[in-house]
Amino acid sequence: MGLENFLSINLPSKCLVYGDTKPEDVKIRAYQGRDEVYLSEINPTNLELKFLTILKDLITGVNPRDITIGDLQYIIVWEYAKSYTNIVKVLTKCSYCMSEVEAIVDFGELDIIMLPDDFKQPYEKVLPSDRKINLRLLNINDEIDAQKFEEKNDNGVLFRCARSMVDSDDILTRIEKLSSGPINDVAAIRSFQEEFYHGPNMNAKFICPKCGKEDHVLVPFRFDYIYPRGEGLTRYFGKGIST
Ligand SMILES: [Zn+2]
Repeated sequence: MGLENFLSINLPSKCLVYGDTKPEDVKIRAYQGRDEVYLSEINPTNLELKFLTILKDLITGVNPRDITIGDLQYIIVWEYAKSYTNIVKVLTKCSYCMSEVEAIVDFGELDIIMLPDDFKQPYEKVLPSDRKINLRLLNINDEIDAQKFEEKNDNGVLFRCARSMVDSDDILTRIEKLSSGPINDVAAIRSFQEEFYHGPNMNAKFICPKCGKEDHVLVPFRFDYIYPRGEGLTRYFGKGIST
């Protein structure tokens, strides 16, 4: 496929964590029919791994494994809007008139939370225990490894925290130190990822169809946004073309 189908994209990370990559070098294309093969196989336990396969063919100018979780969420929403539909309907209760309504959210109009211009990693942070550490944002590669870890272990919370540390200790030593240290240290590391969340703000505005006031609704992440199926599929694509 020629590069003419590739479009510029303003990633929420501003490419600040991708080494020498310049934002203008990053290009992306909308899904094509063949992408459905991989998209259809995505489920909650393999999202990053399967999506990585598609991303290798979808995006240029940046190593897909380095893509941050925030940029990945933005790409998923971007692709949904460009490839399927930008209109998403969510059942909610209007906080003004208290009616149960179907909120119509435009994925093309979501607020995008960007990383601050002066963000740099490794990011130095002093933990509540006074231990000084360096942190970095988690990326697709980290999440794939965290899921592999979770296949053999209870859960990946400490793995993800250890992985976000830039440290000379090996990963198991880091996990062991976190495990036997104060819980506040782990919370402080997790809060770093939250503090520098970048990506779509899923708390979207909509106009109440009953009272006409502008309200907000938290759009839940659904796997429909990657691969429409069931009701989502028939609702948008099930109707024949009427003339
Ligand atoms: Zn209302």
